Amino acid sequence: MHRTIDALREEFFDLLILGGGITGAGVALDAVLRGFRVGLIDKGDFASGTSSVSSKLIHGGLRYLEHGGFHLVHEALHERRLLLENAPHLVHALRFIIPFYKDARVPPWKYRAGLTFYDLLAGTSNLRRSRPLTFPHLRREFPGLRSAGLHGGACYVDAQMDDARLCLEVVLSAALQGACVANYVEAVGFEQRDGKITSVRVVDRVGGAEFSIRARQIVNATGPWMDVVSRLAGDHSEPHLRPTKGVHVIAPYRGLTSAFLLLHPADGRVFFVIPWLGKTLIGTTDTLWEQSPDALIVSDADRDYLLAGYNHYFVPPLDRGAIVNSFAGLRPLIRARSGEPSSLSREFQLFWSPSVLLSVAGGKYTTYRRMAEVVTDAVARRLRRRRRSCTRNFRLHGAPREAWEEFESAGVSALCSRHCLDTQSARHLIGRYGRCAMDVAAYLERDRTLAEPVLPGEPDLRVEFAYQRDQELAIYPADHLLRRTRLGLFRPELLPTALPTAGAAGSLFS
Ligand SMILES: Cc1cc2nc3c(=O)[nH]c(=O)nc-3n(C[C@H](O)[C@H](O)[C@H](O)COP(=O)(O)OP(=O)(O)OC[C@H]3O[C@@H](n4cnc5c(N)ncnc54)[C@H](O)[C@@H]3O)c2cc1C
Repeated sequence: MHRTIDALREEFFDLLILGGGITGAGVALDAVLRGFRVGLIDKGDFASGTSSVSSKLIHGGLRYLEHGGFHLVHEALHERRLLLENAPHLVHALRFIIPFYKDARVPPWKYRAGLTFYDLLAGTSNLRRSRPLTFPHLRREFPGLRSAGLHGGACYVDAQMDDARLCLEVVLSAALQGACVANYVEAVGFEQRDGKITSVRVVDRVGGAEFSIRARQIVNATGPWMDVVSRLAGDHSEPHLRPTKGVHVIAPYRGLTSAFLLLHPADGRVFFVIPWLGKTLIGTTDTLWEQSPDALIVSDADRDYLLAGYNHYFVPPLDRGAIVNSFAGLRPLIRARSGEPSSLSREFQLFWSPSVLLSVAGGKYTTYRRMAEVVTDAVARRLRRRRRSCTRNFRLHGAPREAWEEFESAGVSALCSRHCLDTQSARHLIGRYGRCAMDVAAYLERDRTLAEPVLPGEPDLRVEFAYQRDQELAIYPADHLLRRTRLGLFRPELLPTALPTAGAAGSLFS
């Protein structure tokens, strides 16, 4: 698969989407499946914005119930079920523990009521009913959990994913259905006729060329950059977004097989401790960010806040030196107008500019499919080509057609016998690429040395880099290390510069 620069330059699209995070990727897939001619560009790599730095949860969001966000939770729980069916290799169930402590901001009865309601809202989409946990059970299963003040708890089941890979797979699925997609193509200006946008001026950051892409409708799905791009299109109205920064720290594996929903001792906010890819994610912070989205940084205060939260609940304690890495993202939250409820901030809204640019603001990763459906409906109405969305039952590119358990065990055996992989490596490839794992392993027939792990102690194989270069539009080392694998998150020293430069960490890819 290649970046389709020539087609972007030459064709006239029904729909051009700016931004290849999960929102733009979702719209591209929905629109191309309805028969629209679709272009999708991102100024960086796909998923290089918020969509690779989330908490990696596909969830209803138990805490939104506290603020009355019933509709949002209900919709998200429904989307969770669809994602488990349509991308079972990338999304899987995860058990969450809520320990109850004396004098906590949220009393146990409120948690119990919330969980009962969460179960009810999930209805037939529920993964497993929530249930109470006794103090002895918690002590036995989690000996590292602080026992002073603990008097029981509860558990429920939500879902977890690899956010960057899921986004990439939506992009690839759209491309395989006929969308023209290119990463590293930045929108830098808009061309108008009679006050309406007719094309977007772009720069190919790989080849250096500047050209225009023509389309009947432009969708601004640039997440935290939405207001910047709207202004570029001549919309100087009040900003639509009020982004907040969310930081996670990554700690080594701490023996936890379940995630924890906890209240921070300093301010009572919810934060999570989550096992993920053999490491522990602790997050997140939530602070207003008023500078450019490109200037986002993790501060010592962010790290210390998260460590204080973790150390309040778990022993042995973690100190700064034990942190593997940290990362930050911006929530593209809608700026509440006076009189509007704050829960609105997790909802999404569409804005039409006078020049007919359609901007998408807000939302959650979990509900991207529904959001894409609404955006594409709006475009279809404007273009007078009403066709129905068909993403509800559309299985992503790597999703098997048979039940996941059946596919996984057959796939692992096939990879082991045909390509002499050990079970752990075979399981890793199946879990990341689904039914495309066979295509990845086929590269081993050309070069057997690619069966080696990239780094000792990590499951990622060298063969993945070859496949990602040819089939997954990876160009720079960071594309391989930060989004198609997550090695660069766990071993930041592999990324010699913050900016992606072709050739950096080159020895890994030779
Ligand atoms: C810390 C944190 C944790 C979160 N956790 C969860 C969670 O667990 N579950 C959940 O459901 N949601 C979660 N969310 C929310 C979710 O991650 C976001 O809503 C979602 O990823 C936003 O996707 P997006 O495509 O709108 O934006 P982005 O992913 O930021 O994509 C926007 C893209 O636009 C591109 N772009 C910008 N300017 C231009 C331009 N001029 N030309 C071309 N391209 C451009 C950028 O490069 C970027 O790739 C979390 C958010 C944060 C910040």
